[in-house]
Amino acid sequence: GMSLTVSTSDIIVNEVPKVERIGAHSHIYGLGLDDSLNAATDNQGMVGQIKARRAAGLIVKMIKDGKIAGRAILITGEPGTGKTALAMGISKAISAQTPFVSMTASEVYSVDMSKTEILTQAIRKAIGVTIAEKKTVISGEVVSVETERPQNGIGKRTGKITLKTTDMEAVFDIGSKMIETVIRDRISAGDVIRIDKTNGTIERLGRSALRNRGFDAVSNSVSEVPCPDGELEKHVELVDTVALHEIDAINSRAQGYLTVFSGDTGEIKSEIREAVDKKINEWREQERARIVPGVLFIDEVHVLDLECFAFLNRAMEGEFAPIIVMATNRGMTQIRGTSFVSAHGVPVDLLDRALIVKTVPYSEEEVKQILIIRARAENVTLSPGALVGLAKIFEKTNSLRYAMQLITVSDILRQRAKAAEIQPEHVKKAYSMFHDVHRVKKLLEDNGEQYITYT
Ligand code: ADP
Ligand code: ADP
Repeated sequence: GMSLTVSTSDIIVNEVPKVERIGAHSHIYGLGLDDSLNAATDNQGMVGQIKARRAAGLIVKMIKDGKIAGRAILITGEPGTGKTALAMGISKAISAQTPFVSMTASEVYSVDMSKTEILTQAIRKAIGVTIAEKKTVISGEVVSVETERPQNGIGKRTGKITLKTTDMEAVFDIGSKMIETVIRDRISAGDVIRIDKTNGTIERLGRSALRNRGFDAVSNSVSEVPCPDGELEKHVELVDTVALHEIDAINSRAQGYLTVFSGDTGEIKSEIREAVDKKINEWREQERARIVPGVLFIDEVHVLDLECFAFLNRAMEGEFAPIIVMATNRGMTQIRGTSFVSAHGVPVDLLDRALIVKTVPYSEEEVKQILIIRARAENVTLSPGALVGLAKIFEKTNSLRYAMQLITVSDILRQRAKAAEIQPEHVKKAYSMFHDVHRVKKLLEDNGEQYITYT
């Protein structure tokens, strides 16, 4: 077969993306508890579910005290009762930087990869590596930006950006990739930015306080920062947290293991992982890197089979293993691939190590509160009537996720109607445009013969 040697000195880390996709749970930034584990005034995006939140708060305390090793958490409760939200709250309560990875158990059954490979990738996605890098950056307040297309419209754009500190000002040429960022992020005069000199990435640090003096109309989403002082070019130590899996993936690709589908990594050779681990360990010894165990959330865990459970059991014992949070809505269930019946479809040895937390259905008032928080997170204004409409839709569909998706759709309809806030008619229209699971089921039952059915 083919031999593969990866030198650890070749390991790439500076191209690793740092985006975290959390979408539906982005409004949650903690468990919203005070020191005595009671609901705090700042609920950190969490509504109700007090018993489960307090239990989760206790677990966070155990994690912080280092008393959780080798244990897992199992959250039981109906769909849409906030099991994922609770797991997200746990990760945020540990620290804002704690990686959070969410998957559904059925994802392990893939034609492209083995079950243990998929679980290994998930585990390594939930292990963060904080790396300190010495870099040369240019940071300053934008004075002006000019971009130009070539006269004939063919070829690359060119541009110039003028930056200043409180002490100096200079003009820099920018290439087409940087121009793309400038346009996409709408970087304009008054923004304080940082350019990484080695790769040209531009990061907006905020709006210049100097510039904003006397203006009140600053969006809350952009923070105000001081205009930098001294030289424009500086040597700094930047700290980034990236997922171990991302480092694996980049290096796997760099070694020529490309996959057909973009965004999909394929199996990662153990040589790659070993080389990555070796490099990270070197950096840990030099105190350039730190491992940040995160949270791996596995929904519908009863779908896993014995082999997967055995794998998780082993993985949990590792020094840097993420906290495994499992969720299910099943009671006594057969363990997949066996004839044994067990509580929640989870084998007894794993159940023995699990701290079990139960979530309960929400009251109408709680649903409304969650919808309000969610609307705020999406920067959307609901009229009182629209909120009542969404709450009714929740009652009918029993799906919080569906009701929340309608916020986004309703807001697009509101924009088109040029209304200031979402009105009941926008919600009604959105409801008629997109089917929820119940209606899809009914449609299929009523018109089954028109569809191909798999049995
Ligand atoms: P489950 O995992 O039990 O199916 P989710 O956590 O996905 O349920 O909940 C559905 C949606 O409602 C998610 O967007 C979630 O963030 C939100 N949500 C659920 N419970 C709460 C809560 N207690 N506070 C705030 N948001 C919640
Ligand atoms: P195992 O117990 O199977 O050896 P661990 O549970 O210790 O693995 O670690 C979980 C994952 O994190 C594994 O994929 C492992 O390769 C990786 N890992 C563990 N320690 C380190 C480290 N110091 N540096 C980089 N990766 C590590």
